[in-house]
Amino acid sequence: MLNKIIITFTAIFCLLICHANNIKNNVVFAYPDWKLKALSFSYDDAHIADRQLVAIFNKYNMKATFHIPHAWLTTKPENRITEAEINTLYKGHEVAGHGANHLPLKKLKKSEVDAEIKADIDGWKKITGKTIIGYAYPGGSYSQNVISVLKNNGIIYSRIVGRDTTFSLPENFLIWTPTSHHTGNISKLGEKYLNLKPEKMTVMLVWGHSYEFPRKNNWHVIEDFCRQMCGKDDIFYATMEDIASYVIACRNAVIANDGKTLKNNSDKRLYFFYKGKKITVEKNSEYIL
Ligand SMILES: [Zn+2]
Repeated sequence: MLNKIIITFTAIFCLLICHANNIKNNVVFAYPDWKLKALSFSYDDAHIADRQLVAIFNKYNMKATFHIPHAWLTTKPENRITEAEINTLYKGHEVAGHGANHLPLKKLKKSEVDAEIKADIDGWKKITGKTIIGYAYPGGSYSQNVISVLKNNGIIYSRIVGRDTTFSLPENFLIWTPTSHHTGNISKLGEKYLNLKPEKMTVMLVWGHSYEFPRKNNWHVIEDFCRQMCGKDDIFYATMEDIASYVIACRNAVIANDGKTLKNNSDKRLYFFYKGKKITVEKNSEYIL
């Protein structure tokens, strides 16, 4: 008798779990306006060539993130964007951290990493009035220790040096591998991305340094790419912060165990498909599935 009861309860429990999993499988999060593609750029070190680069991005309505070692504005000012022009030049884009002094963070003591990051955060807050939540590891140097210090300082994403041409979202935004450096045949990758018909959110992230363009006399590489990729209805043009914070909000949404509600715990409106239908759930609200 007891066995029968246990078997019945287990069966009901399994059915409920299966039901909830089915619902989870039927919920597909998307970027705003139910887009499944996103394009962003990550350019480091604030060389004066950023002026021309930003002009190109603005011409094609692209959004980019500029990772800048805050202390370099004063300690290495040669050919550097000035503090006075930060807020006007990068308007509409994201200014993010890059180690206050661009030191290889992996080689530093935990307390030194903490000091580097705090100095960057405080410095940018003074200039932009905004608390940065984005980072790029100087020289791509990171470790588990560095990641935990970043996390403790409220940083939600950090770009590494590397190449991942799958267009998949990073599992861990604190180890965000870009799609490609701009020298990595981005026009071909761009074509591949334009032709992609994704079933879930994807991303293309191009990175580099603006000084590489005048040095190699190849400004056309980035201008041609922007012309190729601009104005597409199915692409979310966004800064890295926009993308990371939105995707993390989706990942933090909770589908109740009984599969009946989806709770948005974030301060953003979330877009998703449910059984193929386009649905939104407002910030800090529940949607009944
Ligand atoms: Zn750098």
